[in-house]
Amino acid sequence: MMEKKNIDWENLDFNYIKTDKRYVSTYKNGKWDDGALIEDDMITMSECACVLQYAQTIFEGLKAYTTQDGKIVVFRPDLNAERLANSSKRMEMPVFPEERFIDAVVQTVKANAAYVPPYGTGATLYLRPYMFGINPVIGVKPADEFQFRIFATPVGPYFKGGAKPLTIKISDFDRAAPNGTGFIKAGLNYAMSLHAIVTAHNEGFAENMYLDPKTRTKVEETGGANFLFVTKDNKIVTPKSNSILPSITRRSLMTVAKDYLGYEVEEREVYLDELGNFAECGLCGTAAVISPVGKINDHGKEICFPSGMEEMGPVTKKLYDTLTGMQMGKLDAPEGWIKVIE
Ligand SMILES: *Cc1c(COP(=O)(O)O)cnc(C)c1O
Repeated sequence: MMEKKNIDWENLDFNYIKTDKRYVSTYKNGKWDDGALIEDDMITMSECACVLQYAQTIFEGLKAYTTQDGKIVVFRPDLNAERLANSSKRMEMPVFPEERFIDAVVQTVKANAAYVPPYGTGATLYLRPYMFGINPVIGVKPADEFQFRIFATPVGPYFKGGAKPLTIKISDFDRAAPNGTGFIKAGLNYAMSLHAIVTAHNEGFAENMYLDPKTRTKVEETGGANFLFVTKDNKIVTPKSNSILPSITRRSLMTVAKDYLGYEVEEREVYLDELGNFAECGLCGTAAVISPVGKINDHGKEICFPSGMEEMGPVTKKLYDTLTGMQMGKLDAPEGWIKVIE
């Protein structure tokens, strides 16, 4: 067993901490090189690099953690590999082969195993795969040289002291255009959400609920998490739209709800004017798994869920406990969901 770094695991924040090794592979002259783990955390590039001028960059996010029986594992990295490939295609970037993506994840975690937080601390090793156009581009066109990288950074539990229900607002800003890039994990989607999130925070809200930009009548998602709703008769509903980013957490929770917990599940258009009919609401993403939403502010009018502002609703809690139980090795997960690193 490798000696762990001397880190106060229980008090980690969700901030970047430099670790020992990162993975890098370069695409040049039409092909990816062999890739390697390196120590240098700095990137040198042209002032005219495509990523700096035209934001040709995409990313992924996943976590490595220690299970109850002491194994280091990652959760469904094949889906991150697939999603990065889809993002690459939409952004005119070369696909990094999916099996190489998984191998790069394994190499990065192994090389930084001393930073994988111990079981029971609530902390995890966050992995950030990303790809960007690096050669100089001034006329508008895609780059022809790229880097695929993964760095790792230990992070604390997203919500210290348990998840308290959030209050969010309906945003007047849009996250993604109807035929735009909302369904891929492009840095540009986040760049344009920064003003909206700062505005929401300044007004005292935790997050924005974005609506479909065309009709502004349907629920899309927040800046970085998909919605799950629970009806009063315990059906799990998630919004359907081709401008939502397909969250791996949300897709996993829907499978768990249907196949393991026996709930009826439905992916359909969800209208703003039906929000008051739901019993529970949660935000799904890798960072927090599910963050409960207690209240939605629609231009001063409050939509309060019966689950209240003190704790997660009972169905949300059951979903959360089951998926995190699978991730932590306390419950059996579906075949192929847990990749053991060592
Ligand atoms: C990454 C992301 C999510 C969450 O996806 P997970 O795979 O569950 O981490 C949701 N929405 C957006 C916009 C995202 O970028």
